[in-house]
Parts: sequence; C-alpha cells; structure tokens
Amino acid sequence: MGELTGKVIVVTGGSRGIGAEMVREFAIKGADVVISSRRIEACEEIAQEIRELGRKAVTVSCDVSSISDIKNLFQVTMDEFGRLDVLVNNAGANVTKPAIEVTVEDWDYINDVNIKGLFFACQEAAKIMINQDGGKIINISSVGGVKPYKRITPYTATKAAVIHMTKSLAAEWARYNIHVNSIAPGLIGTEINKKEREDKAWLEKATKAIPLRRLGEPKDISKMAYYLVSDAANYITGQTFFIDGGTLSE
Ligand code: NAP
Repeated sequence: MGELTGKVIVVTGGSRGIGAEMVREFAIKGADVVISSRRIEACEEIAQEIRELGRKAVTVSCDVSSISDIKNLFQVTMDEFGRLDVLVNNAGANVTKPAIEVTVEDWDYINDVNIKGLFFACQEAAKIMINQDGGKIINISSVGGVKPYKRITPYTATKAAVIHMTKSLAAEWARYNIHVNSIAPGLIGTEINKKEREDKAWLEKATKAIPLRRLGEPKDISKMAYYLVSDAANYITGQTFFIDGGTLSE
C-alpha cells in the first residue's frame, strides 16, 4: 500500500520521457494509471512495467490536439475506473527555428498541443471532478515560460500561457476542491532535446548555464509531481514550481 493507493491518474504524453517517469512514480506509490499519447504501442510498453508492479494500467491513443481524442480519453477512464483523481497535462510539442521562419502550420501545431489541448483536457477532467469530491490537475510548463530563449518563441509563449492558465483555473475551480498547479522543468535530458544534446559544444554551454552543473533527469520532475499529488500538497493551488537546477536564479 502506498500513499496514492486507490487514486486514478491520467497522464498525457505518458509514452516516454518525463511523462513515463511520472507514470512509474505514481504507480510505485500505489496509483492506477491511464497512459496516453499518440503511439499506443509505446504506452503499452510502459503499461506492462506498471502491471508488473501490481497496479492497473490502461492505455488510450490520444492526440491532445484533437478534441474528440481528449473526450474519448476521459470516457475510457470513467468506463474503466468510474472516477478520476488526477490529470497530468504533460504532452508537449516544439519546433526549433528562427522566428522569421516560423510558419502558420508550426504556430498552430504548437498551440494546439501545448495550450488548446491542455485547456480542453482540464475542462473534461473538471467536469468529472466537480461531480466527485474534487481532484488535482498538474500542467507541465517550462522555464521557457518565464525566461526568454531564442529560436523557440512559439513554444515559450505557450509555456507562459500554461502558467497563467494554471492560476486562472485554480481560482475558478477552488470552490470545487480542484487544485491546479504547474511544474516548469529546466533542461531535462529527453527525446525532445536529443538532437541538441548530441552537439558537444551545445551540451557544454547548456550545462554551464545550470548552477547545479547537470541536466535534470525525468525523476527530478516525477518526484515533484508525486509531492503535488500527495496529501502533503493539499493547501497548494495556482502555483508553478520551477525544477531547474537553479537556472532561474542567475
Ligand atoms: P519527450 O520525451 O519528447 O516526450 C513528449 C511526450 O509527449 C511523448 O510521450 C509524446 O508521445 C507526447 N506527445 C507529443 N505530442 C503529442 C500530442 N500531440 N498528443 C499527445 N501526446 C503527444 O519530451 P519530455 O521532455 O518528456 O516532455 C514532456 C513535457 O515536459 C512537455 O510538455 C515539454 O514541453 C516539457 N518540458 C520538457 C523539458 C525538457 O528539457 N525535456 C523542459 C521543459 C519542459 P507520442 O510521440 O507517442 O505522442
């Protein structure tokens, strides 16, 4: 029995990286999980690991830029478990290029995943949580939501929006005992920045910009997510937690 035993947690973008690590952390602490992303086979691999821990794991194919996929994700969750305790909006998209070259397609793609999909997933989750005894939502932002970075302007704009949306939803839904918080990671070694990390000079410069002198690991984020989901965080809502090795302190 762990502290999260009996809780049902949905993670978007749970097929790899930070999302998969959060799924593992929640399951180790006793939760049952719904793992979703666009590639159900990849989600199924994580689900196998979770079932070996003795927890229930359901996989759902969900492109968060599709409203019908989002609705289906929560329908399946309710069909399987009959309740929803936590939603983690982790799925994220980026296109790295000079601002002058960003196309309308790039803009729409990033916005549809990082803001539109995140908002409507919050809405679907809240519809369920309002009819229960509340729930918790964690939105994954980025240090880029407050610190400017070149060549990823649409991404940083969406991550700033996530921080603000988190506060507005927290204020609106506190009366339903729905807690809405955000985690803003610094540079974490995952697929999203694999290409950049292969460039030694880039990696050296990026590491030097982190006061703790190392890239973060998915575990650094999943531990914070566990804290927010746990009862220890029951008086926290509307906040963003920067897990960045000190990046924003310089
Ligand atoms: P990652 O390894 O590339 O994982 C991204 C996840 O999102 C994958 O599971 C991917 O699965 C899923 N995904 C992508 N587009 C999707 C869509 N349209 N619908 C549903 N799922 C989608 O990256 P990560 O680093 O773990 O990123 C997780 C979150 O952390 C993102 O929101 C990212 O912006 C944020 N973040 C990361 C860093 C970092 O340095 N790594 C820093 C700050 C913030 P499929 O391909 O199967 O769909």
